[in-house]
Amino acid sequence: MKILAIANQKGGVGKTTTAVNLAASLAERGQRVLLADLDPQGNATMGAGIEKRSALPTVYQILLSQVTVRDARMRSEPGHFDVIPANRELAGAEIDLVNLEQRDLRLKVALAQVADDYDFVLLDCPPTLNLLTVNAFAAAEAVLIPMQCEYYALEGLTDLIATIKKVKQRLNPGIQIEGLLRVMYDPRSTLAQQVSDQIKQHFGDKVYDTVIPRNVRLAEAPSHGMPVLAYDPHCRGSKAYMDLAEEVLERVGRPTLMESMHGQA
Ligand code: ADP
Ligand code: MG
Repeated sequence: MKILAIANQKGGVGKTTTAVNLAASLAERGQRVLLADLDPQGNATMGAGIEKRSALPTVYQILLSQVTVRDARMRSEPGHFDVIPANRELAGAEIDLVNLEQRDLRLKVALAQVADDYDFVLLDCPPTLNLLTVNAFAAAEAVLIPMQCEYYALEGLTDLIATIKKVKQRLNPGIQIEGLLRVMYDPRSTLAQQVSDQIKQHFGDKVYDTVIPRNVRLAEAPSHGMPVLAYDPHCRGSKAYMDLAEEVLERVGRPTLMESMHGQA
């Protein structure tokens, strides 16, 4: 079982879109996938076609050890993967977890129970570097970072990489950066090209070859409660996330280095 955290502390950079659609694309490629929603907004939950209101129990009860992953997981019918849902209740988790033992390791411990059930677990992180994100980094083998190719894209990664380093020292020595994914890419924009080149210079082969284009079908699909592959299997967004799934699968087992992290922060 490979656990990937999908993180970037900026909001609106395509984390949830990537989590839902990579989950569906990996499932389409024959993988057994669990998607855990760690954002109180519950966008991944809804994007996978699960009603937030009926989605109890959630990851919140899992973190508090009130239920197990097996009790809480639900099926995304259009996505062909399992989901640990989230809703607004999760916003209180930070406070509720503070005084609990091993508050950073609760997700990791909970996921260990289903290690044999899945090939991939994707963790859709909130847009903050809080205790939920730390739980994700403590549980994950690696972090997948979606980013838009715009000004300050690299500067924005400094805090994220510092947090990953701290977790590496304190909680999870094995954590790696799995890859940087360029999303909402507009090839006609000179700026996007320039920033994309900078990202490649800085992070080398950590940058996925696959680029996710700006595609309106990707933005429409969540309002229908579907991954894009179910909503419009032939659109550019579907093709891009299928390509990404293939690249992620190719990278499995490939040794990943922390070298790109040493240059930063
Ligand atoms: P995050 O989870 O990082 O906050 P989202 O995945 O929710 O970001 O994306 C933010 C917004 O951008 C959403 O409205 C989403 O539908 C839209 N979006 C994300 N990726 C794309 C894309 N490649 N093309 C078009 N719209 C996109
Ligand atoms: Mg999100």
